[in-house]
Amino acid sequence: MSYDIVIRGGEVIDPSQKMRQVCDVAVSDGKVVAVQESIDCSDATTVIDARGQLVTPGLIDLHVHVYPHAPLGLDPDSLCAAGGVTTMLDAGTAGSYNFDAFRRDTIDRADTQIFSLVNLSCIGLIAANLGELLDRRYADPDGVVATIERHRDVAVGVKIRAGAHIIGTGEQGWANLNDAIQAARNSNTWLMVHIGESPMSIPELAEALSPGDCITHCFKAGSTRVTDDSGKVFEGIQAAAERGVMFDVGHGYGSFNWDVVQNSLDCGFEPTTISTDIHAKNINGPVYDMATTMSKFLMLGVPLERVIEMSTTMPAKVLNHPDQLGTLRIGSVADIAVLERLTGKFIFTDSYRQQKTGTELLVASTTVRRGEIVPGGGGRRMQQLSE
Ligand SMILES: [Zn+2]
Repeated sequence: MSYDIVIRGGEVIDPSQKMRQVCDVAVSDGKVVAVQESIDCSDATTVIDARGQLVTPGLIDLHVHVYPHAPLGLDPDSLCAAGGVTTMLDAGTAGSYNFDAFRRDTIDRADTQIFSLVNLSCIGLIAANLGELLDRRYADPDGVVATIERHRDVAVGVKIRAGAHIIGTGEQGWANLNDAIQAARNSNTWLMVHIGESPMSIPELAEALSPGDCITHCFKAGSTRVTDDSGKVFEGIQAAAERGVMFDVGHGYGSFNWDVVQNSLDCGFEPTTISTDIHAKNINGPVYDMATTMSKFLMLGVPLERVIEMSTTMPAKVLNHPDQLGTLRIGSVADIAVLERLTGKFIFTDSYRQQKTGTELLVASTTVRRGEIVPGGGGRRMQQLSE
């Protein structure tokens, strides 16, 4: 039997199949065609020696900014190469007025699979520094619904950045939030809400959301947090998680605080999905890449299988593609990450410049995207370490 690629001898972790064992993975015609103890690779075009490394489904980053024509936007394909990420969700960089251009110029040209949210603000994040919804005329719920209808295959939901300096306070803040919720319901999709200095409390905000909606930047510090002053996760937040509201990490350069994460984990409150919120201002630290963000959770004691699940299988469910993405099932798209587990002393920094020292760092060593090896697959953090 001839294969395009055989990945030999790695420790395969695929939470979608509750699988963790050393075995080989074979790829042909862009699909996973075999996962078993020993695969004959004598006729394989390419053999990857993964002994001592982890082999997981391609990572899915549920919060990125890859519209290069907007401030802070990054090139999606180089992000893929830099971190084992084969699928990403642009978190509402574009709105109804510029989504067509985003699709034409970026989504359709990229080799990496990009899904996107549509911002409630018609201009998206083009002038994010001015507060994209401070002027209510920029809220375009009908335009969001029409945009999603036009781009059903890639536009999977709605985004709002619910900070008081972005959506306004009091009635205006709520009116913008309610427009975003309504756009999600009317388009039969879901809403991702960015929290931080929000005009409403986070439990109030969570109460307004439905199962399947998502709060991102869930470990942000500041005046609006998921934890109270004693460090306990609010009951309303726990209740929202139990009824299916999702909580996404969205690390970013202002949204990941060691104390809030640790307090939340101590309360048994885990994120649904790990994501980076990677953009031009944090790719050279403190975020670097997806594997570094995952490593921070390993350091905080979250088990490896859970960390992989939050970075593959769970986001695949959110994107509504659990059979094809975030899995190594036979017949699924051959999106695969090979991750090295480096041991040593590694400095990890949160978004508030606080450092912790960890002993383990995940680094993407090889990325297979739709059955092909991505050139230059070394991790971003790895490059930083070697400089
Ligand atoms: Zn973001």
